[in-house]
Amino acid sequence: CGIVGYAGPRDTVEVLLEGLGRLEYRGYDSAGVAVVGAEGVSSRKRGGKLGVLRSSLDDAPLPESGIGIGHTRWATHGGPTDENAHPHLGDDGRLALIHNGIIENFAELRAELAEAGETFTSDTDTEAAALLLGRLHREHGDLRSAMLALVGRLEGQFTLLAVHLDEPDVVVGACHNSPLLVGFGEGEQFLASDVSAFVRYTPTARALGNDEIAVITPTGVEVIGFDGEPIPGETFEVTWDA
Ligand code: GLU
Repeated sequence: CGIVGYAGPRDTVEVLLEGLGRLEYRGYDSAGVAVVGAEGVSSRKRGGKLGVLRSSLDDAPLPESGIGIGHTRWATHGGPTDENAHPHLGDDGRLALIHNGIIENFAELRAELAEAGETFTSDTDTEAAALLLGRLHREHGDLRSAMLALVGRLEGQFTLLAVHLDEPDVVVGACHNSPLLVGFGEGEQFLASDVSAFVRYTPTARALGNDEIAVITPTGVEVIGFDGEPIPGETFEVTWDA
């Protein structure tokens, strides 16, 4: 039930785990992270508490990276297993996606994707979005355009974050009836479902409105609507201490 994304020079996995730890109060049954670096997309996900994921990452760390996404799951579709934990992969492992919420039309999307030859490795509604985003990425050529196309196909409520091997400095987020905030740093940017996930790194935040997409890189943030038009918005300063 928590989402964190990071683009910047810090130890990405540490930023993600720290942020997810701050979101633990929301309740969850599984956790996972994915990062993109020179070795491509690497991910680790586990049923159980964050400590289970953390000790797996301590035993076998993920490669160095410049961007990443982290998730704690409150299972709605499929039990709290390692396979059903997020991230889910698409585009033959070149893309990773995390999701909070419910995709109401997942059965229809699953049938369409299975028909098109995609293979599912979980029982989640989310994996349909990951596989579809992968196909849309191949069609549109970049994550921003692929996400714009994806949100037009989804029904339900969602906060989504995605990364792709071809864009190793970009994290894209989208939200529909579900919260997403941007944290603005110096040479680093954050995305999260709650400011508490990044406030120890920066107090400057912006809450996305409904049906908005944020594209972050270490040096910039772009916010657009589901129609692709830029959305001007205001930042605020979080005044409580982390
Ligand atoms: N519906 C998704 C699942 O069951 C996401 C649940 C969540 O919000 O964590 O995997």
